[in-house]
Parts: sequence; structure tokens; C-alpha cells
Amino acid sequence: MKILIGKFILEANENIPMISTLENVDMQFGEAVVDLMQLKDIFNKEDVTVIPTLSANAGSTGVMDRKSFDFIENTIIEGIEDNIRDLDGIFLHLHGASKIVGLGSGEHHILDRIRKIVGPYLPIAIVADPHGNLSKEYVENATLIRSYRESPHTDIQETIDFLAKNLISIIKNRENIKPVYRKLPLILGGEQSVSTDEPVRSINAFMDELEKDDRIRSASWHVGYIRHDTHLAGCGVIVIPEKEIDTEYANKVADDLANYVWSKRHEFNYTGLTARPEEALKMALEHKEGPVFLTDSGDNVSSGSMGVNTFVLKQVLNSKTKKKILFASIHDKNTYSKLNAHKIGDILPINLGINNDELSSPVQLDVEIVHIGSMTGMKLFGESNGYYGDCITVSVRNSNIDIIVANTNQPFVERHQFEAAGVEWDDYDLIVVKLGYAFPELKENSSMCIMSLTQGPTLQDTASLPFKLIMRPMFPIDKI
Ligand SMILES: [Zn+2]
Repeated sequence: MKILIGKFILEANENIPMISTLENVDMQFGEAVVDLMQLKDIFNKEDVTVIPTLSANAGSTGVMDRKSFDFIENTIIEGIEDNIRDLDGIFLHLHGASKIVGLGSGEHHILDRIRKIVGPYLPIAIVADPHGNLSKEYVENATLIRSYRESPHTDIQETIDFLAKNLISIIKNRENIKPVYRKLPLILGGEQSVSTDEPVRSINAFMDELEKDDRIRSASWHVGYIRHDTHLAGCGVIVIPEKEIDTEYANKVADDLANYVWSKRHEFNYTGLTARPEEALKMALEHKEGPVFLTDSGDNVSSGSMGVNTFVLKQVLNSKTKKKILFASIHDKNTYSKLNAHKIGDILPINLGINNDELSSPVQLDVEIVHIGSMTGMKLFGESNGYYGDCITVSVRNSNIDIIVANTNQPFVERHQFEAAGVEWDDYDLIVVKLGYAFPELKENSSMCIMSLTQGPTLQDTASLPFKLIMRPMFPIDKI
């Protein structure tokens, strides 16, 4: 059995002045693709011959330029054209939240081109992030498609295994099935749909029940992505029948699931402890035990912000606190380069902040270089070896503030990433990270996590986002 595989990840925030190019993409070919797509074990066990195309992971950043995208898309397409006479199926890992200059969604373009080449019947399985924008046409172009259930995404491997097993079974026992899609007039932010909280817990439990029926192969829902304007925005549900004769039943189940999610629309709320910036910092500084994690949610790099804002740094400097504080990180390429011309122990003045707007206006600091490090991938997202940027950790003179100055916007969510930057969580009372919700390792190892509702490209107030292209009416922008 021959299965062609490929992966493309980009969460494109169009509210930042940063274009995603191949230079910022972790690009791997050959055997590394099987590893990065977490398919090795299952495909080995099932004796699948794998044809890897590429794994292109741009992470969460700006909109991608057309030339870079064309390279990624053409690599997958050429792989298919070269092997078309041998292929039994295609397995893709496509995030769903990309936007390409002058094109729109990259994933939708890729799948559309693939179907034009292979026709309607070749089995195609797609692993999707729930924070992607899907549509009826896109979903129906797949044979199998499913989003992770958990946010933060702790069930990526499980989702991959589920789809790989189902793809193999479809190839062995051919069934002419098509996923059933229902779009909802509902847009949600990732911070309002954490799966350990309601109503997502109940929605996931509802889908578990639906899948106990032999006629239903898979039930999933996706939150959608709100950081670029697109007619594809909004959440939706996907139900896949077990066999072709179960299609009518799958349609009924899709209606039930869509109605269930819709009935919960007033219950989506911020997760955990959340406060306006002044209150959030006050609570963090008054907390007796460390470490406290404070998330700068308006500048959330895991949702495509640049991580350049100095707003919280200014807040902390103004507070005159004596507490030990770490910023992980602040992205400023020029300041990074300036620091990189020095060595550990050097003391120098820096102007930290790219001055893109008031939120990222520069702060003058005298700093000592304490560590020259690098950024590492997120194990949670299956990122392993590869280049995720460089960083230099500095201590602000005459203060208890340390800052990781980075040359890109990689999130800091796991302990090993901090260690690669030369810092230890337990040395600090407060750690400021560029995230929305706190990721599992941060939550488990902190005495408190608090989301600061800061301004910025990942503003949390969904109802006030300036959409023009989305379907209307749409809750909560329209009170339906
Ligand atoms: Zn996601």
C-alpha cells in the first residue's frame, strides 16, 4: 500500500506587519517528514510504503507571500504527479488557518488542485487544527478529515493515529464516503474555547457519544481562526459516515451536533483567571508564591502575533517592583543583532522595541548579557529538530528583571525551551509570556496563571474585531 504524505502549518495573522517567507519556515524533506508527521509507528506496523513530499511549518506568524507558498504547494503537487499511477491514498496534515497574499487560504487551494489531478475518489485523509477555517467544499474534497479535540492540543498524536488507521482501512475496504459539514454563524477566539472548560468539555463528550454508533466513523468540530478576514471564518462540525449507506444518518447527526454547539454559544468564555492589564499585574505582583505566569494575550505569538510589544515591560518598570521577573520573550531582530556582536558578561545600553506602534515603542535599558541561546521547538506540536530562532538573555542593570531577546516569535511554553535560553522557572516570582491561555506545562508548574487582556494584534474582544468579509449575521458580532 502506497500513501503520499505532506504537512503545511501556518496560522496567518494579518494584523501584524510581518510577511511569512520560506526563511521563517521549518522545512524538511524525506524520512524527516515521516517523523515530523508522527506517522512512523503506525505506518511501520501496517506495512505502508510512504512517499514523503515535505513538512513545511511556518508556525503562527504573518500572511505568507505567494512565491513561498507556491514552492510548498508545488512540492506536494509534483509528488502526486510523479507517483499518480502507484498511489493508494494521500495523508495530509494541514492546519487550516493560512492566508496567502493574493490567494486566500493555502490549504483550500492545495486540496482543490489535488482533487483536480486525482479526481473525486482517491482516499485523502486530513489532520486539521481546530483553529482553522474550513468550508463545505473543502471538507467534501477530503475523504476523512478531523480536528484535534483538545485545546491546548494534547491529542495531536491520537488524532493522527485515528486518521491513519481509518485511511488504511478505507484503502483496504473501499467505501465511497464523504464527510458531512455544517457551518455555524459563530466566531470564537481560541481563549474562549479551552477544552478543559465548559462548554467544550460537554461538546467533546457529546461527540464521544455520537461516535459510539456503528454508523458514525468520526464526529469533530472546529473553532475557526479569527486573525485574518475571510469568508471562510466561523466554526463548524464534521460528521463522517462509516459506510456510504450511513450518509443520510450522518446528515441527521451533523444537524444534531451543529444544533448542540449553537445552543452553547452564550457559554463560551475566557478560561481561567483573566483581568485588565493593571489589575492583572497587580494580582501577579501581590501573589506570595512563585512562579506566576502572566500571559500578554494581545501579543500572543501562538496565535500569530509578533511578540514585539513592550507594553507589559513598561508596566513592570513603572511598578518599581523588587520581585524577580522574566520576560520570555521580546522579539526584536535589531536589538538581538546588536547583542549578538557581544559576549557573555558584557554590559551595554539597548533600545528594546521595534517601534511598530505605541505598544512596541522602545525602552532604553542598560543590560548585562547572561546567556546566548537558541529557541527550540514545541514537543506538544511534534516539533523536534529544526531551526526555531536564536535568543540572548539579558539582565536589566539595577533591577531584578531578566529578558530573553529573540530574533523571531517562537512561543515559550515548555521547560526545555526556557532552559535552552539559559533560565530556570523556579528562579523567578513572575514570568511574562506571549500567549493567550497558559499551556499545560506552565499551568502545572506555576502557583498561578493569569491572562492579561492587553491590546495588540491578538486582541481578545472578538465582537470588536473589524471583519468585512465574514458571513453575516455572525454571533457574537450580531446578536442572534
Ligand atoms: Zn490550534
